[in-house]
Amino acid sequence: MAPEMSAQGDDSAGADVAAPWRRTAPEAITHWVYLDNNATTRTDPDVVRAMLPFFTQSFGNPSSSHDFGGVAAGAIAEARRQAQALLGGEQADEIVFTAGATEANNTALRQALTREGRDELIVSTVEHPAVLAVCADLEKHCGVRICRIGVDGRGRLDIPAYRRALGPRTALASIMWANNETGTIFPVSELAKMAHEAGALFHSDATQAVGRIPIDVESTPIDMLSLSAHKFHGPKGVGALYVRKGTKLHPLVRGGRQERGRRAGTENVPGIVGLGAAAALARARLVEDSTTIARLRDGLERALLATIEDCFALGDVENRLPGTCAIAFDGAESEEALLNLNRAGIAASAGSACASGAIEPSHVLRAMRVPYAAAIGALRFSLSRDNTQAEIDRVVDVLPRIVAASRLGSPFAMRRRDVESTA
Ligand code: PMP
Repeated sequence: MAPEMSAQGDDSAGADVAAPWRRTAPEAITHWVYLDNNATTRTDPDVVRAMLPFFTQSFGNPSSSHDFGGVAAGAIAEARRQAQALLGGEQADEIVFTAGATEANNTALRQALTREGRDELIVSTVEHPAVLAVCADLEKHCGVRICRIGVDGRGRLDIPAYRRALGPRTALASIMWANNETGTIFPVSELAKMAHEAGALFHSDATQAVGRIPIDVESTPIDMLSLSAHKFHGPKGVGALYVRKGTKLHPLVRGGRQERGRRAGTENVPGIVGLGAAAALARARLVEDSTTIARLRDGLERALLATIEDCFALGDVENRLPGTCAIAFDGAESEEALLNLNRAGIAASAGSACASGAIEPSHVLRAMRVPYAAAIGALRFSLSRDNTQAEIDRVVDVLPRIVAASRLGSPFAMRRRDVESTA
């Protein structure tokens, strides 16, 4: 991990306040291993540097006609070009800045309400809640019919079912570019073409894909795409909706004429500048970073699968994000394993969570029909360009003991041991 994550020598006051070692045995952990980059990434110091002048010096409102406003407006225009360049296009005015992917998804999905004579929306069952919860609301309160398309055991979309669902009533299809839990990548180009053949709009929640795998809106016929800066080393609370030129957008957030009338509210200038800087960095480093990250991830996965019994990789391992490694440890309890990983200075995440006192596998693992005893033992390690081989080695060193300890207490493991001892 970068020096800022070390318990010694952090020169940044902001990072120090939030430093996890302040909460967890400070003397025991001198170096955190952060492997939860699908949740969020560290803001790149160069991105922070680009943002800083827009707090205290160039703090103008981009709508103002004086030079303070002009400088801020110019910075936003540059960030728009940088964001568009990361998506492979030239038309900067196709980017609408938002407060993140959640808002971008909300805006995109509500376009379904504007399609005359069309009242159906198609999504996958493994979308993020930032899509699924919007669908539930549209279904309940706006009379939109939602078709939820399932996935197979590797998290791949049931394409024949998707094709069958498309029809003259389909207003919009929204399928994620890559899944946040398994990293599985969806064939967005093919899905968009099918949607267009049925006269429907196509949106993709590309929050996990942008900045991690190549995206080219010139060759991928999508109408809208959502992204969030903090998934590619930009700041939190800022994102964008890409809207292809010619696609009519009905604004979700109304008020002033900002973003050419497509998203009201005074722009988050430092955040937008940060998004642009992060996009430029990601674009410059994408090929090199994704190769290094995939090599580290593959090494981690190979080592864990080889050293820990009864576990398997989740998702479409041949076609997934370079940094995502999701493994189901059969008979383990991921919540407990996470806690022990945290005590060992390793931050990861689980494929299950405690809901009303019971452990519930995530909706993604349920959609993939991962057996319960495996799903509740699922852990996700998500890497970024900040990770090193030494960090991977540490996980490989400590995880076998942590999984073994969690299996000892698990009712599933005990049941299996009983079966084995009576066999
Ligand atoms: N979609 C996906 C696939 C995500 O992973 C996330 C963030 N976890 C979001 C949407 C929401 O992004 P944000 O919270 O930045 O709005």
